[in-house]
Amino acid sequence: MALLAVENVTRRFGGIVALDDVSLVLEEGTIGGLIGPNGAGKTTLFNVVTRLYKADSGRVLLEGRDLLRTRPYRVVRSGVSRTFQNVVLFPTMTVTENVLVGAHTRMHPFGERQGRKMAHETLDYLNLGAHAERPAAGLPFGTLKRIELARALVSRPRLLLLDEPAGGLNHEEVEQLGSLIRKLRKDFDLTLLIVEHHMALVMSICDRVHVLNFGRKIAEGTPAEVQSDPGVIEAYLGGEDAAA
Ligand code: ATP
Repeated sequence: MALLAVENVTRRFGGIVALDDVSLVLEEGTIGGLIGPNGAGKTTLFNVVTRLYKADSGRVLLEGRDLLRTRPYRVVRSGVSRTFQNVVLFPTMTVTENVLVGAHTRMHPFGERQGRKMAHETLDYLNLGAHAERPAAGLPFGTLKRIELARALVSRPRLLLLDEPAGGLNHEEVEQLGSLIRKLRKDFDLTLLIVEHHMALVMSICDRVHVLNFGRKIAEGTPAEVQSDPGVIEAYLGGEDAAA
């Protein structure tokens, strides 16, 4: 069953068509990859799905309900959560407080005590318990990325959007990330969509890969199909980004 269906989404910025009639479907329980050169529209798609940006046209259906017609603050409550390309945390707040920000939308039904319990459970799950009461500022980049992931997970989303989770990580961390993403899917019953330039990671963890170029979707398929698609090789994989 489709958890997410992006249908004919277009978003322009002045003369730039950042998303040009883009459609994609994510089956429940799968890991989707969203790849393409810099400026292809990948982050813009995340921003449209999470309602940071308005779409000029199109629909974004979560289990058949149009997210573009719900209020932006309800997006998390409806089960969609994300991380950002440039880690966005509150440096002077403690790690737990940063994660509580993600629990906020769920606090009303759960209460703050429950929110804190969930924050601590999520931190422990991601081996971040030792940092719980430290300020986020000054922690290593890989740790900050995991804190951001904890903040996204604490609302117990059904759909998790990861924007370049491997960006800035070293080789060993990227390997661990691959296993972690697979484990997350299983342990949290997640469906994931991942924007990533690290092709080895994309090809090893994704069930299906969608390719954007200049705002248009140019290909979709299994990792093997996409990797051997001449249009994708020409637009992206054959270029510099492939080495990233
Ligand atoms: P990268 O791999 O570099 O992160 P991307 O595929 O995520 O790239 P986007 O960030 O979605 O690309 O950008 C798509 C296009 O839309 C680019 O031309 C970009 O300059 C433009 N764009 C994105 N956000 C805005 C904005 N807020 N205002 C104006 N133009 C924007």
